[in-house]
Amino acid sequence: MSRAGPPSAALAAAAAIVFLALGALLGLAAGRSSGITVGDVAVQIELDRGAFRGGGDPIESWIRRSASIVAGYYGHFPVARLTVRVMAERGEGVHGGKSFANPEAYIQVRLGQDVTEAQLLSDWVLVHEMAHLALPDTGEAHAWLSEGLATYVEGVARVQAGNRSEADVWAEEMRQMPRGLPESGDRGLDRTHTWARTYWGGAMFCLLADVDIHRQSHNRFGLQDALRAIVRDSGGLAADWPIERVLLTGDHAVGTTTLEDLYARLKDSPVTPDLMGLWRELGIESEDSSVRLSDSAPLADVRRAIMRAR
Ligand SMILES: [Zn+2]
Repeated sequence: MSRAGPPSAALAAAAAIVFLALGALLGLAAGRSSGITVGDVAVQIELDRGAFRGGGDPIESWIRRSASIVAGYYGHFPVARLTVRVMAERGEGVHGGKSFANPEAYIQVRLGQDVTEAQLLSDWVLVHEMAHLALPDTGEAHAWLSEGLATYVEGVARVQAGNRSEADVWAEEMRQMPRGLPESGDRGLDRTHTWARTYWGGAMFCLLADVDIHRQSHNRFGLQDALRAIVRDSGGLAADWPIERVLLTGDHAVGTTTLEDLYARLKDSPVTPDLMGLWRELGIESEDSSVRLSDSAPLADVRRAIMRAR
């Protein structure tokens, strides 16, 4: 008669390790990890192709397309190497994502097993996550800046790449941005961490900045140029920068003090900009469930310049 003791437990553990290692090898053989390059960026994709009804190809195209959209907006992709891990869940559609930068850029994205090509084509999640890679980490108090930028850049970048219509983006901003306005008791962007203020209050900051930089530079520069300088000088999300340094770097690149001034006004006071007046000046008029764009409005040239690919 023998009793299970330490020696056999060790044996079981060793067997488990061999089993796990074998599983990982088989996973690789089954196509769970593959590398692609998008422009000069190496993208490692961790994906169980067999878990998705449409297989892995549409998902790989989606990752490639999203990376190209973001590279187009920033002039080049924010980082040189990226790993995208795709996790299968029940259902359709793109369910959500998360970005990390330490030690290397890494995006985890959750996808329905029955996701369709049309859903992947109109997805905003992955472009949003990739946009996060371009901004240094400025700390939790300024989550509104990183979420606002990712929200705002997603729309503009996709229009510039021909992946979304300009009217669709303005219609969404017209519908959603008022949610980012301060409510009673608000203490400014740095001190009011509700979902609406973080995402749409942050996106409103970006739109106001974009319009102001365009106006002041007579459409020579926009927020896009400021953001390109910020990612170039910082290296993006892996860097820890104070928000003041981020904004100063952007302002220097475009020759204004727009970002610093706007931050000083909005960081700890509940400022309510006249969004209706801004849409009117930009030539964006609500029409049925979408918008009509007017080229005779005073700031129509700014509106067009924001959405023009460069
Ligand atoms: Zn985000």
